[in-house]
Amino acid sequence: MSVNYAAGLSNFPHIHKGNLGLPEIFDSPDVLQKGIDQLVHLIKQSKYMVVHTGAGISTSAGIPDFRGPNGVWTLEAKGKSPKVSIDFDEAVPTKTHMSILALKQHGIVKYVVSQNIDGLHLRSGLPRSHLSELHGNMFVEKCEKCQHEYYRCTPVKTMKEQRTGNLCQQKGKRGLSNCRGKLRDTILDWEASLPPNDLSRAENETKKSDLSLCLGTTLQIVPSGKIPLLTIKNNGKIVIVNLQKTKYDKKASLLIHSYVDDVMQGVMKGLGLDIPEYNINLYLGIVTYFPDDNISKIKSQNSNESKGKLIVYAIEKVKDDPDEKNLTLNYPKVENNEEIAVKKVKKF
Ligand SMILES: [Zn+2]
Repeated sequence: MSVNYAAGLSNFPHIHKGNLGLPEIFDSPDVLQKGIDQLVHLIKQSKYMVVHTGAGISTSAGIPDFRGPNGVWTLEAKGKSPKVSIDFDEAVPTKTHMSILALKQHGIVKYVVSQNIDGLHLRSGLPRSHLSELHGNMFVEKCEKCQHEYYRCTPVKTMKEQRTGNLCQQKGKRGLSNCRGKLRDTILDWEASLPPNDLSRAENETKKSDLSLCLGTTLQIVPSGKIPLLTIKNNGKIVIVNLQKTKYDKKASLLIHSYVDDVMQGVMKGLGLDIPEYNINLYLGIVTYFPDDNISKIKSQNSNESKGKLIVYAIEKVKDDPDEKNLTLNYPKVENNEEIAVKKVKKF
């Protein structure tokens, strides 16, 4: 699927794809441990930490990156195809995804900004309300009329924000008829505008931050790659963990060159925190993403959901329902710590 993703996007000249196949750098064990210790210290000092993630955090899940030595575009430039060991719908969150989730649950990470379209942050359990997906999500269809987002269990068939052929099932204002707006995928084409809600949240959260941790990204894509610089404007610090040089190495207070999973495992150990196991029985199946202006609509529909912008539920499969028609909503962690009752929902 990831190869198709790269191939499906418009084929712009390579110059738009940035530096490809830069050599990878590996810190010596001593230097790495020193870097991890410094990062732990910075995290402990931080009051508002934001994490920025790129393709490098998903390579250990079997999803190739774009600009690494075996990246999609590095190989493409050499006339080769990457070896893909896994489909997107089979990929599971990595140690890095699960560490970020734990840091968010402990209130250490306030927000996550991702360039990844693999959906693994949401699969890990990270709430949509704490995540900007700047380049879209392969599992999401969005209504062009009411902006409602639908999360699917398998990748959406189209790319480049095309109509998928499905229609929105949201109830209209009076709850009488369905919206029936046309759904589109959310995968951005080259040079397409970033989703405005996700972009402004990413910028606003980063402007408030005193620490931006950049993981597995060469920060080459604009504007996503520039967003961490807003932390510096706020007199904060940038830490970059990546195997290759990045565009903003000179701006960083700390550079670590190692596998992100190794770094994050060291960081969690240094902080005395456990990395939760990915729960294979939890997966995203349905969505509820309401932009701000639709909050009133939620209130009118369901008073239990009126308190915040709870956006994504993890869905636990009902084991005795082979058709998966009925899924149990079981996602108690919401923005305002309010418990959401477990309830049955119908899979769209
Ligand atoms: Zn709609």
